[in-house]
Amino acid sequence: MIDSHGHPIADSGGALDLSAINVELATDDASRAVRQQSGPSRLSHELLGVRLAAYLGCSVEEVPEARGRASSDWSGYVRGLFADCGITGMVLDPGWNLDATTAQAASFAQMVGCPVRPILRLEPLIDRMIADGAGAAEVLAGVEQAMQDAPGSGYFGFKTIIAYRTGLAVDPGATLARAEASLRESAALPVRRRGKALRDLALRSALGWAAELHLPFQIHTGFGDSEIRLAEANPLLLEELLRTAEGMAATVLLIHGSYPWHEELAYLTLAKPNVHAELSMFNLYSVATVADRMERVLELAPTSRVLCGTDGHGHPETFWFGAHLIREGWRTVRDRWAVQGARSSWLDEVELAIMDGNTRSLYRF
Ligand SMILES: [Zn+2]
Repeated sequence: MIDSHGHPIADSGGALDLSAINVELATDDASRAVRQQSGPSRLSHELLGVRLAAYLGCSVEEVPEARGRASSDWSGYVRGLFADCGITGMVLDPGWNLDATTAQAASFAQMVGCPVRPILRLEPLIDRMIADGAGAAEVLAGVEQAMQDAPGSGYFGFKTIIAYRTGLAVDPGATLARAEASLRESAALPVRRRGKALRDLALRSALGWAAELHLPFQIHTGFGDSEIRLAEANPLLLEELLRTAEGMAATVLLIHGSYPWHEELAYLTLAKPNVHAELSMFNLYSVATVADRMERVLELAPTSRVLCGTDGHGHPETFWFGAHLIREGWRTVRDRWAVQGARSSWLDEVELAIMDGNTRSLYRF
């Protein structure tokens, strides 16, 4: 499969702390202790441990140390995991910060042994410009320039995590004057919560620029790490933005299956010909219901606009686990649909599209 959604992994191996695979981000010792105590009580932790034990040929208790030994040849270990789960290409979001470059994507591709298509996340630039005191027009110009430069720098698409900032209730009528005022009015807030009207205007504009560049645009929807306010991540909040000229012109991907709003995502994908559904991340954490969640999207959305991924990050085992689970989920859905009468030739086409072809054509593999 081509993984439609991944992030960089560590530069080296070592013993694996499974409880570190978590959406909770706090880095203090007390939070880490809570994670280590509660981790083994989570189903996703249990299933990953059991499957890794089988892969490494050890008991579940021995996984941390066995992984440490197996990963002494780190690149070999990573490539082995990727080969085992059948990932043959990946869309990479390298960017939590402005230091991310496409050169890192090239070394990542080298490590994992498959082609990688990096995408440019917009918020690191917007956040830094707001923090530096830039005005609204300056921020817009900065975003436009970065997007225009992106194809030449080796990027194959864009991404916004505005859901983590001021939320998905984007006001399509935000003006430059409102954007400027929003910076002044929110100056006392943390940078991530500043400038809602500016961020709304920047996103609407960015969709237009992405459309002109013919590059796909990911919008974070649904759950994520612990910094998100989940109520602000419902994809239906995007409806007004998606009705604007820019929102209709861009190739939009709503990611993470919009967990837990799968039917909402399915409907938007059905009703709007430029909207795509990207299924990832819930296959790392909501592991008993992967097939059900996939089916809630796939039964309604055109399967020609559904992409499957992992949201692997940090530890290569997350890619491995997520890829196996989403393929197993699809097999379950496929079997159900076969019983209902879908032809196997049609199911073969759907499988190829959601696991490979749709991502391949959008990101030009
Ligand atoms: Zn992600």
